[in-house]
Amino acid sequence: MSKVYFSTWRGEQINNIGKADEEWEKSAYNLPLEYNEHASSKAFIGWDGVALFSPDVDVVRLATEYAAQYQVYSEACGRCAPGRWGGRILYDLLDKIARGEGALSDMEHLKEVSKTMQETSKCEIGKTVPNPLLDLMNHFESEFMACIEGQKPSKHYHMHDTNYIAKITAPCMDACPAHVDIPAYIEGVRDLRFDDSLMATRQTMPLAHTCGRVCPHPCETECRRTNLDEAISIMELKRLGADYETDHGFGFFHPAQKKPSIGKKVAVIGAGPAGLTGAYYLALEGVDVDVYEELPVLGGEVAVGVPEYRMPIDKYNQDIEAVRDLGVNFITNTKVTADMMRQFENDYDAVLVATGTRISKKVYCDNERPEIQGYWGAIDFLDKVNLQVKYDIMVPEADQKRHMLPANFVDLSGKTLACVGGGFTSMDVVRCAIRAGAKKVIMLYRRDEATIIKNTTYEEYHEAVEEGVEFIFHSAVAKMNDENDVLKSLTVDRFELVPDPNGGRPTLEKIDGASFDIDVDYLIPAVSQSADLKLLPEEWEIERTSWATIKTNGKDYMTSRKGIFAAGDCEYGPMTIVNAVGQAKRAASVMARYVQSGEITLSDDEIMEDHLRKLKVYDKKEKIKGWLPGLPRAHSEVLTVDERKDNNREVKYGFTQEEALAEAERCMRCYYIAMVAH
Ligand SMILES: Cc1cc2nc3c(=O)[nH]c(=O)nc-3n(C[C@H](O)[C@H](O)[C@H](O)COP(=O)(O)OP(=O)(O)OC[C@H]3O[C@@H](n4cnc5c(N)ncnc54)[C@H](O)[C@@H]3O)c2cc1C
Ligand code: SF4
Ligand code: SF4
Repeated sequence: MSKVYFSTWRGEQINNIGKADEEWEKSAYNLPLEYNEHASSKAFIGWDGVALFSPDVDVVRLATEYAAQYQVYSEACGRCAPGRWGGRILYDLLDKIARGEGALSDMEHLKEVSKTMQETSKCEIGKTVPNPLLDLMNHFESEFMACIEGQKPSKHYHMHDTNYIAKITAPCMDACPAHVDIPAYIEGVRDLRFDDSLMATRQTMPLAHTCGRVCPHPCETECRRTNLDEAISIMELKRLGADYETDHGFGFFHPAQKKPSIGKKVAVIGAGPAGLTGAYYLALEGVDVDVYEELPVLGGEVAVGVPEYRMPIDKYNQDIEAVRDLGVNFITNTKVTADMMRQFENDYDAVLVATGTRISKKVYCDNERPEIQGYWGAIDFLDKVNLQVKYDIMVPEADQKRHMLPANFVDLSGKTLACVGGGFTSMDVVRCAIRAGAKKVIMLYRRDEATIIKNTTYEEYHEAVEEGVEFIFHSAVAKMNDENDVLKSLTVDRFELVPDPNGGRPTLEKIDGASFDIDVDYLIPAVSQSADLKLLPEEWEIERTSWATIKTNGKDYMTSRKGIFAAGDCEYGPMTIVNAVGQAKRAASVMARYVQSGEITLSDDEIMEDHLRKLKVYDKKEKIKGWLPGLPRAHSEVLTVDERKDNNREVKYGFTQEEALAEAERCMRCYYIAMVAH
């Protein structure tokens, strides 16, 4: 929160005109006062108001520039007359006034056109563009009148001392870590232009099949339609474009033509979502990319962690092939070492480290000794399951013995397995264990049902319950009990939530005398993962975070060593696919400029993206006008429990075309324009 000269943002009324700086009020919002480290902002203008950070802003020119941005958009859109013609009139009249040629009637005309646009435009962008313009005309009428009455240009009209940087956004786009142009891909579905839909997705998200299936869809939590009835089924609509391309056997619909080679080379370490994304956008920019992968297969945790029944490998492979289609070179079965990194620094123009977090953390109980048979880290357990199910790569003999398997695949017939966790990984462990024939599968979780749903999804939890997983909430393993290094049982403590008498967060406290033992054959710790960073040469002294991942500034993704970048889980810690994609997309964009100029820069679009995310585009309190509530959200069919629990068929069918069209129709196209003057 900072002091501002004037603000109508989100309904606040701050007017410090005529007051000394030290008396200025603070805005309640994270307005972009500093554009970047080199420039302070003068003003911010957007769909929900306007804020001035200095008295010296040419408000007439500011209004004109904002209208100009909309005019460019509306010419291209052309979906409705009020938006298209209104946009042209707004710009023409404002520019006329700013030039010093305006008439008194122009002000009235501007207000009338604004009102018509607010009431009759089809999309939010047309409805909202007049909002800040009216604020400026109402609060700074004298500045407009000075231009009209004096027939003189606005105060900075002939000066080129201000940059006007605009960006189109939407609440859902802002919430998606990859900033996918959601309204555009939904519109592609609605118009039955599935190729356009896919290209809109791939502008910032190359893994369309994947994020149409297993993304935790933070975009839906910030979908404006929630304020009216229910969020749009954003994630699943992404499948339409991807399936269309795959099912029809078309070539790949890339969002742009790959640029000719610029003669620069980048090494990417790790072929998970971050590595694949980095490679994709670097290749589009004409950079030659080699991707090194330790495993025999490509895809990272989505390939060897996320099970087949959630993310079929033939679909994921399509996403991977789209990357290969741009000429990316993949080198598998190659674990990059510190020596190789030293060499890469000479051989390549830059390196992107995208090695994920593939070490399962311990549960920290008594007698937690990895040599006890039956103790099996979640990542290794899922590796074995997925390599076998998806790629027919069987369990090696030594591991078969180590994990007491009767055959060279994960067969848990007659066994009891307990998993400790509460996130995606643990849910995959228990559901895979059911499919591997386990007699009994137990999930031990410290917190409650609501939290496990929040950490995963409602569907995921309920599907696991239906399949027979037993959840024991408010519980934690206190001790592993073994006989001759073979796991026999677990001692489990019980906890209860004790309210804070001071009204703070309730705390979990152990219930004395409530501990119990359960007989188990396996304990799978799936509490979290850490990063293996041994590939970073020690003498480089690359900075780490306090949670032992690679440190960057979270904006340009360069590490403390020049030319070495990091993205995805190895940078952030275990997170989500879309988070890895968003980071790697940004890193690729910075790297593509870096390999040519040696400079680390963000584009204006990226700077605006970061400002808007801080400001937050979605307004939970907004009352939606002009749309009728009550159109129910579409739900695609899922396999019944009996159809799915002993096999790896994909659980969700996805939308039929009719369902998809009905769902796409519900989208309100909530595009907005934001602009900073600096
Ligand atoms: C079981 C499980 C289920 C999940 N489910 C979901 C889900 O449903 N939705 C969701 O959004 N997220 C999910 N996640 C999280 C998601 O998979 C990760 O956030 C994402 O894969 C991170 O991508 P990444 O590219 O950073 O790392 P990773 O996917 O881990 O890829 C890193 C790659 O680097 C390779 N590598 C590591 N070190 C080296 C080296 N020295 N040399 C060469 N190669 C190396 C690894 O072998 C790996 O292939 C899940 C994670 C797990 C474990
Ligand atoms: S209604 Fe459509 S455009 Fe609006 S926030 Fe939801 S998905 Fe995005
Ligand atoms: S990638 Fe995930 S967050 Fe982004 S639009 Fe798709 S479902 Fe939403």
